[in-house]
Amino acid sequence: MKKISLIIPLYNEQESILTTLSALEAELGVLPYDFQLVLVNDGSRDATLALISGYRPRAFDVKIIDLSRNFGKEAALSAGIDEADGDAAIPFDADLQDPTALIPKLLAKWEEGYEVVLAKRIDRSTDTPLKRLTARWFYSSINHLSDVPIPENVGDFRLMDRKVMEALGQLRENRRFM
Ligand code: UDP
Ligand code: MG
Repeated sequence: MKKISLIIPLYNEQESILTTLSALEAELGVLPYDFQLVLVNDGSRDATLALISGYRPRAFDVKIIDLSRNFGKEAALSAGIDEADGDAAIPFDADLQDPTALIPKLLAKWEEGYEVVLAKRIDRSTDTPLKRLTARWFYSSINHLSDVPIPENVGDFRLMDRKVMEALGQLRENRRFM
């Protein structure tokens, strides 16, 4: 079976991590893939590391990476991509902001041959007006500066093929914006 790595960067997520992990188990346990969870503890000061260390899922294989301090989400994600063994990887936020039900859809597109499948937010109504405004400014500025178009309202939630994971592994920039 093909192996899919779910990469979860974690900073002080004691309140949400177990709920998120059970939601993932419920959604993915029935799919015909081997799932690997790559849990990257990014210097949490709460019980996150203890909770993930004690977590024994039936459906998944678990790899824990414990960073020596808080390096920020991008660095945590990069460490997770470096250590993930899957044929494809999907970054997933610990706060369950992205619907687990989209994961089978990302996988279906990958099976069609796409090497990157982006999930795009169609509704930001749960964000504050200030967050929505700054997000708009962000995308218009970055697209003004960047030669490569940056799709709006696309976060970290996506699927990347092994080829893409390896290409990212070649880029050792330390101020990454995924
Ligand atoms: N996160 C992390 N290191 C940080 C900040 C956040 O690993 O320094 C993790 C966090 O635990 C979550 C993900 O990155 O799983 C996204 O964080 P958050 O929801 O705060 O950011 P946003 O959704 O606004 O991008
Ligand atoms: Mg979030």
